[in-house]
Parts: sequence; structure tokens; C-alpha cells
Amino acid sequence: MKNNFTGDMPVEEFKKYGYQLIDWIAEYFDEIENFDVLSKVKPGEIKNKLPDSAPLEGESFENIIKDLNDIILPGVTHWNHPKFMAYFNSTSSSPGILAELIIATFNINGMLWRTSPSSAELEETVLNWLKKSFNLPENFWGIIYDTASVSSLHAIAAAREQLKDLSIRQKGMSGRNDLPRLILYCSEQAHSSIDKAAITLGIGLEGIKKIPVDENFRMIPEQLQNAIDEDIKNGRLPFCVVATVGTTATTSIDPVKEIGMICRNNNIWLHVDAAYAGVTAIIPEKQFIFDGLNLADSLVINPHKWLFTPSDLSILYTSKPNVLKQAFSLVPEYLKTNDENSVINYMDYGIQLGRRFRALKLWFIIRYFGIEGLKNRIKEHIEIAKNFELWIKTHSSFELMAPVPFSTVCFRAVPQNIKNETELNKLNEKLMNKLNDSGKIFLSHTKLNGKFTIRLVVSGLRTGLKHMEEAKELLEKALKELI
Ligand code: PLP
Repeated sequence: MKNNFTGDMPVEEFKKYGYQLIDWIAEYFDEIENFDVLSKVKPGEIKNKLPDSAPLEGESFENIIKDLNDIILPGVTHWNHPKFMAYFNSTSSSPGILAELIIATFNINGMLWRTSPSSAELEETVLNWLKKSFNLPENFWGIIYDTASVSSLHAIAAAREQLKDLSIRQKGMSGRNDLPRLILYCSEQAHSSIDKAAITLGIGLEGIKKIPVDENFRMIPEQLQNAIDEDIKNGRLPFCVVATVGTTATTSIDPVKEIGMICRNNNIWLHVDAAYAGVTAIIPEKQFIFDGLNLADSLVINPHKWLFTPSDLSILYTSKPNVLKQAFSLVPEYLKTNDENSVINYMDYGIQLGRRFRALKLWFIIRYFGIEGLKNRIKEHIEIAKNFELWIKTHSSFELMAPVPFSTVCFRAVPQNIKNETELNKLNEKLMNKLNDSGKIFLSHTKLNGKFTIRLVVSGLRTGLKHMEEAKELLEKALKELI
């Protein structure tokens, strides 16, 4: 019954459905393992169940919840499922979910300090907490964006801004004869978001040099140096290198220190993409992954990949916030304030004006789990992945395809009766599809040196050793059925 002048839900109704939805969420998590991980709907099936036009009159919330259950739920791929092992997994944690409720309630737009001091100061505080917990260089300054793609885009924009003499912010890049070809370097294994940033920033795909990797899929620093030398000789302008700590396909670790020395000697911005693996620096044994980070200008880490933070939340740290600010600060009259010199106005450091109060999610999560709790969960994931790695290594019908520095295992089936590479590729693709079609597990793949490789990732909050045992059984059974 909508009886108030706003048309919004009356308080009693809000409480009733609010409590009902909290119960719904609790039951959803309770029963999560009963769902097929991967939705079985066909393309268009959800759309066909939805009306072509929006309702003219308001509907009862009961109807909305009914359709949530009947129409939406069947088309959901369950990222929270403990055997969602396909991609780096953004699992929701309860404190994160509750924080989202409050974020929507306040509905803050944290563009300026003044538009919500708590948002600005909490962002600064929690990013400093994490900086300490990850043992990052003291001079790193952080900002939250939505995704790693956007964090890296900003880092590369700052790298471009650093080329002060070229006045790209002012003059743009097109129609100029005085602009050398700008070159961005990353390894052959870097994430596609780097290519997209190059497209967006006018560097162009031809402005990216993909540096070869070694047998463990790590960028080869000598090859980077050679590429830079050749570009300089040919009048091009190397301006940014992206090193990856935890590449998407195999989670390999580029040698940041060596790459950093090359960047420093050539005055090139070094951006480190640690979107997935960066959170493991919370464990002292893994802090080696950031050896040489003091030579980097920026770093991205995604709590929405492996810190149990509901999507979305990505952190960009940089030792040069002023360059980022030079690239993006543009304050229209209506947003001018008197406190600009004493506070952080986060809108000055990015393309978006409006900003969600994402820091609240991190605050709830870090405080509820505690740094020790987060460490333990991540350690456990790494151990579960190690357990699987060992199983693969000692199994006569499977082989490991890459080292396992974190919680992602790349492997393939190699039954003794099949030696032909084309047949092995076909078999492994079939094996993965069969498992995914079963609804019991969701895996993904990559190609390594032309070989179809299955990826299994352990980063879901609810994934335990029991699920890994189930995964092994599923794999063995499916392989037996195929050969
Ligand atoms: N960088 C790496 C290394 C990734 O693995 C991914 C996604 O998996 C990304 C960047 C992009 O992340 P996002 O979805 O937050 O843009």
C-alpha cells in the first residue's frame, strides 16, 4: 500500500520486506550448493519472460520478489558458489553485503570532501590501513575506482601526463606533427584491460609492445630493454611499462625489480597490475611479490577479486598523486570550495565526478574479519590450491601447465592413450565443457603455447578443502566418461 506522498515504501512495508530480503539472502547462502553454478538458461530466455514495456502503475513488492525468484534467479551464475572456480572470484561476504545496504541508504556522492567528509576521510584511512597491511612503500597514496580496468586506465593516463613537454592534456593527440609515437610496454600475458586503456587514451593498439615471456610466463627484462632501445633509436617515445604480479592466465609474476630499474634508467612510468594477487601481500611470506615496488609509480589491487568485497572495488596506489591530479583535475565553478588545500577532493583524481561510498565496504570487511581473519582465509585458499596442484602432479592422467604461486592451477588431461596435441586440445575442451554443463562446478581455460589448458581458481570465501575433493572426483569421473 503506497499511501505516502513520495510514492516510496511506507516504513512498515520497508521493514517487512527488508527483513524478508535479509532472510532471503541468508537462505540463499545456506542453499547455495544446491544451485547449478553456471545458469542453464538459453540466450533470450530471461528477456522473453520480461514485459516489453515498463509497468505504468506501481506493483506490489510481493510481485517483484516473486519474479526475482521465478525469472531472475534461474538466470544467475552463482559467483558465490564454492565450486565457482572459473575466474578470480568476487565473493560477497556478509559485512560487505550489509555495507552495501548502508551505502545505498546514505546514497552519498563523494565527489568533494564537503559532499561527505566521512566518505573522503574513510577512504583515506582504510587505504592507509591496507597500505600498511600489504607493506607497500610509505609514499604510496590510494584512491578507489570501480575496476582494475579503470584503475589501470588512470595510471596510464598519469604516465602520459608525466610527459609535460607534450601538453597532451591541453592539445590532445590528433592532428599534431610534433608528437612522437608513444609506446606502452607489457608482457604477452598482460590483461586485455591494458590494451583497452591504450585504445581509450589514443595510444592505439599499435602503440603497445608485447614483451615475450620466459618458460614460466614472466616478462623477460632483457627483451624489454631491447624493445625500449629500438624504439628510442627509431624516434618513438617509451612512456609506460605495465608489469603484472599475478597474470590472468597463469598468475605468473613479472620481475618488478628488474623492470623497475629499466624504467628508472629510462624515465618511464612503471604501473604494476596486481589486480588478483596483490591482496596476498597481506601474508608476510608473500610480500616478496612486491620486491622492487619502490621503483613503481602506480599499483592496482582489487579487493573485489580476493578480499571478499562485493563488486565493485579496485584500489589504485600511486607515488605520484600530483601527476594524477594534473591529469584529471578540472573544477567547474559550482564545485569550487574554500577547503581545497586542506582536504582531498577525490573527484580531482579521476574521470568520474560522482563517486559511491565504496570505502564503507572495506571498513566493514576489514573490521569484521580483522587483518588476521583475512590472512587466514587467503592462506587457506593457497593451501587448498597447493593440495590440488600436488594431486595433479602425481596423477597419471593429468599434467600441470604452469607454476602455482597463488591459488590458480593450470592443468590439462593427458591420458596415456592420447599423444596427439590436436586431440589433446579437443579432449580438454570437451572435458571442461562437460564439467561446466553439469552445473556442479565452473572452470575456465586459457591456451598456453597452443595447448588448451584448464584453469581452476580457489578464491571464493565459501570454498573449502571438501569442495576441492569434490572437484577432483568430478574431474576423474568426467575424464573416465570421455575416454
Ligand atoms: N588485471 C588482471 C591481472 C586481471 O586478471 C583482471 C581480471 O581478471 C583485470 C586486470 C581486470 O579486472 P576488472 O574486472 O576489475 O577490470
